[in-house]
Amino acid sequence: MMTHRLSSLGLTDIAEKLDAGTRLSLDDGVRLFACPDLHAVGWLANREREKRHGALTYYNFNLRLEATNVCVASCLFCSFARLKPGDTDAYTMQLEQVLDKLRKRVNQPLTEVHVVNGLHPDLPFSYYTDMLSGLKAIRPGIHLKCFTAVEIAFFAETYGMTDEGVLRALMAAGLDSLPGGGAEIFAERVRKKICHDKADADRYLSIHRLAHRLGMRSNVTMLYGHIETMEERVDHMMRARALQDETGGFQAFIPLAFHPDNNQMRKLPAPSASDTLRVHAVARLMLDNIPHIKAFWIATGVEIAQMALWFGADDLDGTVQEEKIYHMAGSRTPETLGTSDIRRLIRTAGRLPVERDTLYNVITPPEAPDSVGVAAVT
Ligand code: SF4
Repeated sequence: MMTHRLSSLGLTDIAEKLDAGTRLSLDDGVRLFACPDLHAVGWLANREREKRHGALTYYNFNLRLEATNVCVASCLFCSFARLKPGDTDAYTMQLEQVLDKLRKRVNQPLTEVHVVNGLHPDLPFSYYTDMLSGLKAIRPGIHLKCFTAVEIAFFAETYGMTDEGVLRALMAAGLDSLPGGGAEIFAERVRKKICHDKADADRYLSIHRLAHRLGMRSNVTMLYGHIETMEERVDHMMRARALQDETGGFQAFIPLAFHPDNNQMRKLPAPSASDTLRVHAVARLMLDNIPHIKAFWIATGVEIAQMALWFGADDLDGTVQEEKIYHMAGSRTPETLGTSDIRRLIRTAGRLPVERDTLYNVITPPEAPDSVGVAAVT
């Protein structure tokens, strides 16, 4: 039945390429975005997802921290940043406040702290290195996934260092991997309009290349649902795919939904549920070399994240616990989910929850399938 449906949609050649393990082209990706039948695109993506992971769905026990929202950049989509210390709602945590966030969770079996910040013009570099070494001193085994490539570029410029010098100094202080934030849309046309005064696409990619060569893993994101075209979305995925061919260092691709509240792009509508599902699906189909597609529930909403587990996604991120960037942009998701909530969400979506650490080592293995039922690989 699906063969007939794919044929009537003109997608037989794409299905055949996927069967043969042949890489999809820019044109294929654009056709998948244009296809009127979302279910057919999702079906193809789910097949690829299940080839790699069956019904397994990953999450982790993590803590998200944003130590300052003071930022010299002026990204139009950002509701989080404040230009100067002293501006309404601007904040910068004292180092001890940051460390207390972890200290007060001493009884939680956390495996990761994820830190991202605004580009603060006045903090010393030691603020960041002391933060890393302080977090490690409190919990020596914890994985520190901190500072986007945009922050790394800013540190290099602010402190007169090379990108490699910054990464090496942060690694010596305890940095374990880089998060994927700051990628937005790689196309220069879009970047010039929405985030002209921060690291460009080549710098973002070169910092991830460097991080991978220094032995770190990282993720890559894509901010969708604003002024980008479908070609620019696929081009973005292909640039990530090309770097992955070189280094193999990306673990997950993370689509991030644009949220329009309280920012300079507030006249635009938020992306629809079907667009969100399609972006996850096309990412799974285009990114044959990136192992995981993450549905970041804070950005998609919990219910759509559950649905995305049938549209190519195999990871829900984690407990998060403290998040400001999306909530200041109007996200109505909770600020935290407990691990039992996440496992229930995964199970009631018909998938098998697996707690992982940042590097996808299994912490809590999947349980036996329960009465909800588990997808068969077809
Ligand atoms: S997205 Fe990041 S770099 Fe851009 S204004 Fe917001 S905090 Fe600053």
